[in-house]
Amino acid sequence: MTTRRDILDWCDHTLQTRLFQDYAPNGLQVEGCDEVAKIITAVTASRAAIDYAAGQGADMLLVHHGMFWKNEPITITGWKKQRIATLLQHQINLAGYHLPLDAHPELGNNACLAKRMGWQTDYACGEQNLLHIGRPDQVETLSYWAGELMQKLGRAPVVVGDEAMQIKKIAWCTGGAQGFFQTAIDEGVDAFVTGEISEAQYHLANETGVAFISAGHHATERYGVRALGQALAQAFDVSVHFFDEQNPA
Ligand SMILES: [Zn+2]
Repeated sequence: MTTRRDILDWCDHTLQTRLFQDYAPNGLQVEGCDEVAKIITAVTASRAAIDYAAGQGADMLLVHHGMFWKNEPITITGWKKQRIATLLQHQINLAGYHLPLDAHPELGNNACLAKRMGWQTDYACGEQNLLHIGRPDQVETLSYWAGELMQKLGRAPVVVGDEAMQIKKIAWCTGGAQGFFQTAIDEGVDAFVTGEISEAQYHLANETGVAFISAGHHATERYGVRALGQALAQAFDVSVHFFDEQNPA
């Protein structure tokens, strides 16, 4: 018998949750049943993920993007009411791990993206060490890596830069980390890969010669929570299944 407490303690300890300053609560966000036998993992605690977990009779929905973000209204209305109502009705525990799950050296989104792409991490830096700096396992052009990202993440990236340039040193941070581009430029990389792009990064890339690749927020963050789920399935007598969505953003 595995309890909610067992799962949460293991996640908090493994991900070292307390070391992070986050803008969403890490760990339990909505309390459900005490015993956990079936876990659904998903990138986001969307209505679709919650409905899927309910349909599967899951005891826990474990996500990277939970609810209750800082600066959001604190009232429980509309879509948020619907999500919470379904969780409570089906006694599903909602647990979310945000920055700790980006940063973990094996299970984290950044580590999983690197493994998938064949990039070696040399060091992490920037805000809360979330920016990873490293080298691809082979020196190839920007257009080669754009193709690899397309193939390995299943989504066409937005690429700003000289397609023929050779990428020797690369920086990456999954999700909405376009704000880290300047830090990546300061580290002297050839290219920076993240999930999203804003208007300013186009000009920065053109003016500095450092390539910018937006490979999808969802697409770059699918792998951390999946790895966390697999690790939980090994550590406990629980069944874990990953629910995916076709989110183009
Ligand atoms: Zn994210």
